[in-house]
Amino acid sequence: MIYLDYSATTPVSYEVLDTISKVTKEFIGNANSLHALGLKSANLLESATKQIADIYGISPNEIIYTSGATEANNMALIGVAMANHKKGKHIIVSKLEHPSIYAICNYLKSIGFEISYVNNDKEGLIDFDDLKNKIREDTILVSICAVNSETGVRQPLKMIRQIIKKENLATIFHSDITQAVGKVSINFHDIDLASMSAHKIFGPKGIGFLYKSNMIKISPLIYGSGKFNELKPGTPPLPLIAALSKAIRLANNDLEKRERFVNLLNMKIVNFLEKYPEIKINKTKYSIPQILNISIMNIMPETFLHMLDKHEVYVSTNTACSSGEISNSIMAIYDDSKRAKHTLRISLSYVTTTDEINKFLEIFKEEYEKAITVK
Ligand code: PMP
Repeated sequence: MIYLDYSATTPVSYEVLDTISKVTKEFIGNANSLHALGLKSANLLESATKQIADIYGISPNEIIYTSGATEANNMALIGVAMANHKKGKHIIVSKLEHPSIYAICNYLKSIGFEISYVNNDKEGLIDFDDLKNKIREDTILVSICAVNSETGVRQPLKMIRQIIKKENLATIFHSDITQAVGKVSINFHDIDLASMSAHKIFGPKGIGFLYKSNMIKISPLIYGSGKFNELKPGTPPLPLIAALSKAIRLANNDLEKRERFVNLLNMKIVNFLEKYPEIKINKTKYSIPQILNISIMNIMPETFLHMLDKHEVYVSTNTACSSGEISNSIMAIYDDSKRAKHTLRISLSYVTTTDEINKFLEIFKEEYEKAITVK
């Protein structure tokens, strides 16, 4: 098998699996219980949370565990909207967001919020002047993802924050950092709210967190009981939380060294594919190397995906979350609907090997040349 879909999800690492198994067996108490077993679980919850907080230089009570990034995005956008609707109903998002952000915006629009879409340039970078001009007195939130899940385009969060706060200090800045975590460094002080998911960094599915700066307030989406966080009541899923903490610690080792290695793999693929005039490389100077998007203009991407599938080579059409649809992100950058309909995403990890890439390119060549000859 050659797995090249790490941006859709990753396998759980052995170290993380060990943590899940150990915590499940040894920490049976409900962290909300008052007895010794409850206390033992509560202590682990606190230390796992503190480890995450220390890595990111934030405070443990700024971490709200969720089932993943979709839930965190909901908590952030709807939570801000509900807490601030008396101040304003205007929200700004980019054209390079994950589909979950657009789904939430559609809901907010249906209940009376106004959504504006900030433009980007041909490299995928947010148009700073457009952002500045779109921020108004009633703009309560700007949400811009740190790394686009389809093209890997990375946004300068610090600069975006400065623009937002200069125009309106009260406007809250949320970033979906799901595709950035474990790939590039993130400074949480550049954002007020951030969403992430463990399964993109060799952690389990079903856990993630929302970072919420203590400086801002959001309304809860879920009501219940429990002493740990009023925004996420209920029994904390301790094995998953400990696993998330472990996965984050492992993901933050050697970030730059890993990125340099993945960049070599990325360049190897690009150099190979550039030979084919009907293959467009959807890579800009802001794309991170872990995500490589291409458009195969003369074959439908689903057809080619299944051809690779037969060799146990796994890639995505645009993203797992929007498979089969036209790619919003490619439209936003290249404004070319054919290119946006023909995308294939190859996503790499530091665990990908050079041998795997060599084999992948061999299979790609064989299947692609077969497909275009048959045509
Ligand atoms: N945001 C981004 C940028 C993503 O890539 C994903 C996963 N494809 C999500 C949100 C949703 O994450 P989850 O499936 O864990 O809810």
